[in-house]
Amino acid sequence: MSEIPSVVDVCPHCHQRTALEGKAKVVKAKGGDNYHEPYWVEHWELRQCVSCGQPILRETLFVDIDEGDASEKTLFPTPTRGSMAGIPESVAKAYEAARSVQSIEPNAYAVLVGRLLEAIAVEQGLGG
Ligand SMILES: [Zn+2]
Repeated sequence: MSEIPSVVDVCPHCHQRTALEGKAKVVKAKGGDNYHEPYWVEHWELRQCVSCGQPILRETLFVDIDEGDASEKTLFPTPTRGSMAGIPESVAKAYEAARSVQSIEPNAYAVLVGRLLEAIAVEQGLGG
């Protein structure tokens, strides 16, 4: 098995911009006219955040390997946006803002949780 390079990206668990260590790569599917050089490859990558230690599973589709075109989506953890369906935009924004600093800055987190509660109160007609 070949070595998987680390990447620096925002961890979907702790929201820190940090190194995501490559742990495993599995070629899911590939195809093309040339038997030796497929023109598209789809693979899964398992990474581990060096800050929080949580796993991240990503699916990458290289449409044209020579051109370097790749589309990537995170399979785990599933994006929190999906579970925000039906939640008012102002509340969702306040929630995302609070979560983004949760593991970095406790004081800012406390302030933003206060704003989240305020946004909920306003949505419920209790603000002022
Ligand atoms: Zn993390």
